[in-house]
Amino acid sequence: MNTSHSVSQLGELIRDVPDFPKPGILFKDITPLLADPQAFRSLTTHLAKLVPPHSTCLASIESRGFILGAAIANHLGLGLVLVRKPGKLPFSTFSHSYDLEYGRDTLQIHVDALSSQDHVCIVDDVLATGGTASAAEVLCLETGATVTGFAFLMELGFLSGRKKLKAQAQSLMHL
Ligand code: AMP
Repeated sequence: MNTSHSVSQLGELIRDVPDFPKPGILFKDITPLLADPQAFRSLTTHLAKLVPPHSTCLASIESRGFILGAAIANHLGLGLVLVRKPGKLPFSTFSHSYDLEYGRDTLQIHVDALSSQDHVCIVDDVLATGGTASAAEVLCLETGATVTGFAFLMELGFLSGRKKLKAQAQSLMHL
């Protein structure tokens, strides 16, 4: 158990980058937090507390979700399932496409990544409009698993992303 950094101290290590990757987006850059070993360990401990206790595994979303999901899964002694961008997973996949502000995007999961025995918590860095997390939830449900909830590092509440999610979402930081 390591909580040397409070949640607000962790927030100070997240850098705002205006107009990335396109004009009008204030990008939340977690690389300074990840580079600080004590902060990263504290972050893992704080995020692990957001995972519903009856979860049997985690699913994380490419790509920053992988970093957080792997750390939390290891901390909790749970397995990790990957939700990836198209063409990255080598075995048979389920796919789900969803609308973006401009255009559409797709996520995939291995058809055998989860089963009806699994109770999975979905992990990502940022909940914005909710399209990405909702697509991950659809894919997890398609495998037959139960989604126990979502654990996010940060939620951009003004975008109301949690309205798109069926399972309960918990976020460490709210903006
Ligand atoms: P959305 O589908 O709109 O909820 O967007 C969530 C996904 O986009 C997450 O996987 C985030 O990594 C990324 N994302 C969205 N907005 C931001 C932001 N302001 N800063 C960093 N990442 C973001």
